[in-house]
Amino acid sequence: MTEVIGNYIKGTQITTTQGDYQDVFNPATGSVSAQVCMSTTEEVDQAVNVATEAAKDWGRTPSPKRAQVMFRFKRLLEENSDKLARIISSEHGKTHDDALGEVVRGLEVVEFACGIPQLIKGTFSEQVADGIDVYSFPQPLGVVAGITPFNFPAMVPMWMYPNALVCGNSFVLKPSERDPSASLFMAELLKQAGLPDGVFNVVQGGKEAVDAILDHPGISAVSFVGSTPIAKYIYTRATSTGKRVQALGGAKNHMVVLPDADMQQVTDALMGSAFGSAGERCMAISVAVPVGDQVADELMERMTPLVKELQVGPPDDKNAAMGALITRDSLNRIEGLIQSGVDQGAELLVDGRGYKVQGYENGFFLGGTLFDKVRPEMEIYKEEVFGPVLSTVRVNDYQEALDLIHNNPYGNGTAIFTRDGDAARDFVSRIEVGMVGVNVPIPVPVAFHSFGGWKQSLFGDHHIYGPETIHFYTRMKAVTSRWPTGIKSGAVYNFPTLN
Ligand code: NAD
Repeated sequence: MTEVIGNYIKGTQITTTQGDYQDVFNPATGSVSAQVCMSTTEEVDQAVNVATEAAKDWGRTPSPKRAQVMFRFKRLLEENSDKLARIISSEHGKTHDDALGEVVRGLEVVEFACGIPQLIKGTFSEQVADGIDVYSFPQPLGVVAGITPFNFPAMVPMWMYPNALVCGNSFVLKPSERDPSASLFMAELLKQAGLPDGVFNVVQGGKEAVDAILDHPGISAVSFVGSTPIAKYIYTRATSTGKRVQALGGAKNHMVVLPDADMQQVTDALMGSAFGSAGERCMAISVAVPVGDQVADELMERMTPLVKELQVGPPDDKNAAMGALITRDSLNRIEGLIQSGVDQGAELLVDGRGYKVQGYENGFFLGGTLFDKVRPEMEIYKEEVFGPVLSTVRVNDYQEALDLIHNNPYGNGTAIFTRDGDAARDFVSRIEVGMVGVNVPIPVPVAFHSFGGWKQSLFGDHHIYGPETIHFYTRMKAVTSRWPTGIKSGAVYNFPTLN
């Protein structure tokens, strides 16, 4: 009997649905490992109703008590990080160590959430007029939802729910249908940590479940992370029903290499950031931009043998730098893009197509792929590949590198490698990208800074986690108060002023 991965509503797993069941794969073997429930509108409605009821008490629970649940959750996550990493890898395909890294980066957000009571204490102004005090403080929104992508099945949900919960909201998570199990494991740990039933719920599914969330009048805010077309759709539809929305989209991240850069450092950084997690990271570097032919020639000479030797394998292969892609469709799509690069005249230095792993012949594996002399009008440049493919676009000077990045519709991450402080400072200041690395290839901000791209990489006003999370998951109330001793007799008909 195939295992069924279901919803988590009011502290209980429900493994039946009135909707369909969809196959979940182990990408390393290529075989079906389970089936996931594709929730219906009614099932989402049930989860939202439960969350609405639970939000009443949870929102009134003292904030230090809410934070204590997160402290206990943090300890449980640490104790279970190996198990969670295995669950992630079994459905995502990434190596075990990479999955552990994802859990650690998610844990950092949990740690931040433990300190939220300090950030929601509000402000107080005494005696703003005779006998009058004013104070402002944030309150929870009620029920908020998260819709998440396949590539970080634990970390991206953790960008959302720990902060939302300590802010006093209840949460409905709709994880990716391709790797749904991590969500249920985290839900069980939250319960063990003492979170009341109904405060955190999971609805599995696809478009029907997402649309039900976007349209549901009981949900106040939606956090989304995924591809740009869907992010745009989520933003448009959910804001039209009056919701607060942050919708993080796709990316095309460039690394500029100036002639004075340390080439060993550049090579190491490019290998890790382009091929780690098989390039399935929204902050992966997918375009190398060497400035000048001399730099480009040296870079290609250094990178070619390394990409050829790159080991690919199942999650527990200690020698593997990366694992399989998420689905066969994804593998086919990326192989097609590689062919388009060849057809449109890019120089294919290393071709990862047809990569076979012994004992895992049906896995969704693609070897490291390296292109030189890619032009901005080619499909391989224009599309978000989301695979282990590095394109090199040669430019003649620094300004051309800036123009290339500015003309790209995405603005998630970028990096510059140089020893020149002036050049780096100019880049940081002028580049129209939300997250910038100086000699750092994947500049994912730590949990106490917020994460977010610009342009087509984010729709909405708030970046995710960090200080901006407080603004996103709460609403302010301002109170003006006066006690009887300060009240002068007689009605005032003019607009109230300080006098
Ligand atoms: P995706 O957009 O296909 O799916 C994301 C979520 O949207 C999933 O939960 C999915 O079920 C849902 N969804 C998919 N199609 C839908 C539709 N037609 N209507 C309603 N809902 C739909 O993304 P993915 O393939 O799971 O993840 C990869 C993408 O996510 C890449 O584009 C990557 O750049 C992006 N991403 C961005 C960030 C970031 O921080 N900006 C982080 C991680 C991933």
